[in-house]
Amino acid sequence: MSLAQLTALNTITKPLEGKVAVVTGGSRGIGATIAKVLAKNGAYVAINYQTSIDRAEAVVKEIEDQGGISFAIKSDVSKPDDVKSLMEEVKNRYGKIDILINNAGITRDRTFRKLSNEEWSEVIDVNLSSVFYTTSEVINHMLEQGYGRIINISSIIGQVGGFGQSNYAASKAGIIGLTKSLALETAKNGITVNAVCPGFIETEMVGEMPENVLENIISKIPMKRLGQTDEIAEAVLFLIQANYITGQSINVNGGLYM
Ligand code: NAP
Repeated sequence: MSLAQLTALNTITKPLEGKVAVVTGGSRGIGATIAKVLAKNGAYVAINYQTSIDRAEAVVKEIEDQGGISFAIKSDVSKPDDVKSLMEEVKNRYGKIDILINNAGITRDRTFRKLSNEEWSEVIDVNLSSVFYTTSEVINHMLEQGYGRIINISSIIGQVGGFGQSNYAASKAGIIGLTKSLALETAKNGITVNAVCPGFIETEMVGEMPENVLENIISKIPMKRLGQTDEIAEAVLFLIQANYITGQSINVNGGLYM
């Protein structure tokens, strides 16, 4: 077989060939790695960002340099109108949406007694309400096409709580409840809805933590290290390809919570 034939065969057998994915918060951290992994596996990937246009464009360029197809799109996922435009733009460009990765997230850590209404609402809006807005925009479309993969990035903090993280923990626990309920409602229609619960992953979000706090956390992780973004992307790719798994929360945390 010639190299050209092998290359053609390789393209055809990419597992996500022909699929269209949207990754919220794909400009950096976990979302950027998920976007690259999905593109490498053949998906067309729309990369959403809020402010980091240069970094989002850099992810697109990296994907395109490797022969993938992608574009970046600005949208504040906590705003329903923004989200509507985001999904319309993706459908206009690629004709459909098969895979939705709800990854965008923020922290505004503060102990409960000092937590302001604004810090509460901002985190709930960006981390949890956004999942309702994005999913609402794609769910009818997925039902009509009889196929959909929705993966929500939750957190270990939604399972065990976090000091100074009532807002964040509530948003991430909320994601798990939403995931299970939507999975029940859509299971017979070719749609799976799952969550991934990362432990502590080496991104800017974790980089904001004081060094002594981080060292203390690492000492408690059975694997004695932070997770890497590609270790979350692996779980996402697995869930996209799994046909008989829905309503689950997959822990990727180095054994910190079992
Ligand atoms: P990160 O490096 O801080 O990146 C956050 C991403 O979310 C960026 O792409 C950012 O876009 C985007 N974003 C923030 N607010 C947005 C908004 N209103 N609209 C659209 N996009 C918005 O975070 P990360 O560490 O990769 O975390 C990704 C997800 O994993 C989050 O949901 C986080 O809660 C979860 N998680 C992370 C860890 C961890 O240890 N890192 C652990 C558990 C769960 P811009 O670049 O434009 O600002």
